[in-house]
Amino acid sequence: MIQKPKGTIDLFGQKGKIFKNIEMYTHDFMELYNFEFVKVPMFETSGLFKRGVGESTDIVNKETYDFFDKGNREMTLRPEFTAGVVRSYIENKEYSYNRLKKYYYFGSCFRYERPQSGRLREFTQFGVEVIGVKSAKLDADIIYMAYKYLGGLGIKNLKIKINTLGDNDSRNKYKEILKDYISKDYENLCDLCKDRFERNPLRILDCKYDGNRDYIKNAPKTIDYLNEESINYFNDVKSALETLGVNYEVDTTLVRGLDYYTHTVFEIVSDTDDLGLASTICGGGRYDNLVSVLDGPDNPAVGFALGIERIITILEKDNNSILSDSIDVYIMNLVNDYLPYKLNNDLRENGYITEINYEEKNMKSQWKIVDELNPSFVFIIGEDEINNGYVTIKDNKTKEQNKVKIEEVIEYLNTYY
Ligand code: ATP
Ligand code: MG
Repeated sequence: MIQKPKGTIDLFGQKGKIFKNIEMYTHDFMELYNFEFVKVPMFETSGLFKRGVGESTDIVNKETYDFFDKGNREMTLRPEFTAGVVRSYIENKEYSYNRLKKYYYFGSCFRYERPQSGRLREFTQFGVEVIGVKSAKLDADIIYMAYKYLGGLGIKNLKIKINTLGDNDSRNKYKEILKDYISKDYENLCDLCKDRFERNPLRILDCKYDGNRDYIKNAPKTIDYLNEESINYFNDVKSALETLGVNYEVDTTLVRGLDYYTHTVFEIVSDTDDLGLASTICGGGRYDNLVSVLDGPDNPAVGFALGIERIITILEKDNNSILSDSIDVYIMNLVNDYLPYKLNNDLRENGYITEINYEEKNMKSQWKIVDELNPSFVFIIGEDEINNGYVTIKDNKTKEQNKVKIEEVIEYLNTYY
């Protein structure tokens, strides 16, 4: 039997429903904030990610799905959206409007990772990219928005962590100081971090292994090496968050994986045990260099991405409101007649969610279906109902039962909604 590839999942039943409802919620949510939906290709030329994510990152270094197409072009399945969205912004000259552009996306990403709890090879990201303005207040708005988004889904016990990498000067200076510090402990680094030492030393700070060791925990902090402009900027972000009444924690080891982050970085973390080491649901920050690195104008930007499957893992545990919509009516059809069939379609036309049995089934097997579907009402239609022009309506919660004339069924139902 052919099985799904390692690190992929099928979402159906309850999980499929949560996924679909999250996607719908996302579109509604973003409308309130007046963001534009953007759809970019699922694969791009490999060079885009090498430049846009950074050759020094873990993602491009070992996690991408690369292939040559039949025209011998080197392609990569998108491991994230930011590079593609920024490419689209530049290629379509969206910057010529000379104003803030606010995009959001929702779709699959691909990374060749070791599959484990919360870590897949195909996963879904929802995220935003806001391009054209550098403002601490905007950064705070974006952080708060991500938090509100998760809260609106009913996720509790979330923690917002923020940090700053400062501007280019501050970050480069810090990088050298950090390397100097870590070099004294080089031999004790895990293999991955040994490899990161030259290409991406900042990432050692949030290594799942080394990041928890005292030596690394006590490493110099970005915050102590910022120039004045960078310190002021970070203070403004904090003040803006406080203005909105947002609880946050400054985590001086938070660095994020990409090369082009500047100033604000943040994560939203869940306290659930179900995700193991993959408890970060959302990550983001400011990336003022990326647009120009991809040959666009020197426009600043800020954004975040969050993992939908990690959200599903949390939501399926709770008896969540995102699942509460059930069907309105199950028509228990016990006769071979067109009347139940017609009634089913009439109910739909009046906006009711219904199910009916198309095959003749006995009552016993249909009550099993009722148990599964858990409708608000069961309409029972047998010989007596047909002959006398009524429907037996059972309220599935109170178990109360009434005989209602066929012509009055919709009216009767309307009184409950
Ligand atoms: P991590 O540190 O967990 O590897 P990351 O820094 O690689 O995360 P980002 O590139 O910032 O993650 O992606 C943003 C979000 O996308 C993550 O916070 C997470 O929710 C989700 N995500 C990233 N990689 C995976 C994956 N392999 N499987 C499922 N979700 C993922
Ligand atoms: Mg990762």
